[in-house]
Amino acid sequence: MKSIINIKSRSRTEFIDITEEVAKAIAGSPVKDGLCSLFVPHTTAGITINEGADPSVKEDILKSLNKLIPFQGDYQHQEGNSAAHIKSTLTGVSLSLIIEEGRPILGTWQSIYFCEYDGPRHRKVIVKIT
Ligand code: ZN
Repeated sequence: MKSIINIKSRSRTEFIDITEEVAKAIAGSPVKDGLCSLFVPHTTAGITINEGADPSVKEDILKSLNKLIPFQGDYQHQEGNSAAHIKSTLTGVSLSLIIEEGRPILGTWQSIYFCEYDGPRHRKVIVKIT
């Protein structure tokens, strides 16, 4: 079963919590025990899991990524968004979650984040449940 989560980012770089949308997609599928693959079909975005309880954690991660990989630099790519491509490679574009009793296994403090690195844009995350 495949579904799509549509996302509208509002900033140039931003972490968007999609935990609820993923849980809904899993709950709406007949699979109670299995795997949920999440895939981001973009070259300037990513996906990651990290703390969702304290929103300052995602801001610290984003701030550090932006410091580590500045928007302007000695880049060759003519489009001018090399920083976004590099950040996408660092966080990756896919995740795999274990489904148990119709829900994704996540640690108490974990949330799933779509990572925007070249927004604002319309984006999507492909969800495949097996
Ligand atoms: Zn580019």
